[in-house]
Amino acid sequence: MTAVEASSPHTMNTYGRVPIALSHGQGVRVWDVNGKQYLDALAGIAVNTLGHNHPRLVEALRDQVGKIIHSSNYYHVPNQEKLAAKLAELSGLTNVFFCCTGLEANEAAIKLARKFGHDKGIERPEIVVYEKAFHGRSIATLSATGNEKVQKGFGPLVEGFIRVPLNDIAALKAATEGNPNVVAVFFETIQGEGGVNPMRIEYLQQVRELCDQKDWLLMIDEVQCGMGRTGKWFAHQWAGIKPDVMPLAKGLGSGVPIGAVVAGPRAANIFQPGNHGTTFGGNPLAMRAGVETIRIIEEDNLLDNAALVGAHLKGALAREIGGLDGVREIRGQGLMIGVELTRPCGVLTARAAEAGLLISVTADNVIRLVPPLILTEAEADEIVAILAPLVRQFLSEK
Ligand SMILES: *Cc1c(COP(=O)(O)O)cnc(C)c1O
Repeated sequence: MTAVEASSPHTMNTYGRVPIALSHGQGVRVWDVNGKQYLDALAGIAVNTLGHNHPRLVEALRDQVGKIIHSSNYYHVPNQEKLAAKLAELSGLTNVFFCCTGLEANEAAIKLARKFGHDKGIERPEIVVYEKAFHGRSIATLSATGNEKVQKGFGPLVEGFIRVPLNDIAALKAATEGNPNVVAVFFETIQGEGGVNPMRIEYLQQVRELCDQKDWLLMIDEVQCGMGRTGKWFAHQWAGIKPDVMPLAKGLGSGVPIGAVVAGPRAANIFQPGNHGTTFGGNPLAMRAGVETIRIIEEDNLLDNAALVGAHLKGALAREIGGLDGVREIRGQGLMIGVELTRPCGVLTARAAEAGLLISVTADNVIRLVPPLILTEAEADEIVAILAPLVRQFLSEK
């Protein structure tokens, strides 16, 4: 047995970790350093789109590592243009800025919105954000986040955000009534960290219409719910709308750090040379990961798989635990599923790992399942077979 350190003397104390260390993976299965096997229903928090050790991705990355890992944005990176064109095609938008993480993509979106305002003479631009939102942990993105636990200890927060409740068009109108400084509305189509909370289709359409009327940017954070997870490339596409700005990250590179902010015509030319940049963003390794991830999602029809297997998983969960006292709701779309319990259930993360299943609990009482998009129905049944008894057991305790 390799003992996994209970304390970490040299890494900062930023995570409450489950006491296991993963060594390798294959498909939706991973093994820890002691050889114990787990079914991976977390995918590194919606990151490992293609599961682990995908043969075509690994081959492409090996090839890329042997050629060039990093160059610099001083020079052209051919796969930036290729990946940007692909993202434009899939989203119906036009131009992309590449970075490395979700918070960086959101930071770029916030800068775009502010400069959009300044360019039309608004000196103190304000952005509408949402209760329970999560946009990252930089000072600006944690200010946009709707969670006091994320903000506590880091004030003063960045100003210029107006917070509203989800799915309430009257509240959005009331909060912005007569305010000439509003420049953008910014939300996740399905909130991830906030507890798998979807925006309703009708609401998405109403906000799009309002943004058009008012000349506001519609900025949709698809960092977690995008890249095929819900069965469409981007979750807002279920509502038949297009945003003006769309931050991406997590699943875009199947595990290689990558972020992107995708813009439509109203936001595509806001940044000019010197306005924004990053050293690592768009580097050849990350771009290759993005290009190959999308190619494999297309070739293997993983959007349909996410929709079908997701519906199967949700149905199986509903049958097995949906009726239990203590299960408030099972929600989500495709392979982004939340099971809300009536009380905090953080202990289930470690108990599930013990039982051979990787999951997470978010917003205190929501079990989150965001497995790789290659999940099969049989593997979905396995997830339920492990999870359902744990939930039943948990609910039988006080
Ligand atoms: C994870 C997440 C982020 C932050 O991404 P990082 O890569 O951790 O900075 C932002 N928005 C959403 C919706 C996320 O799920």
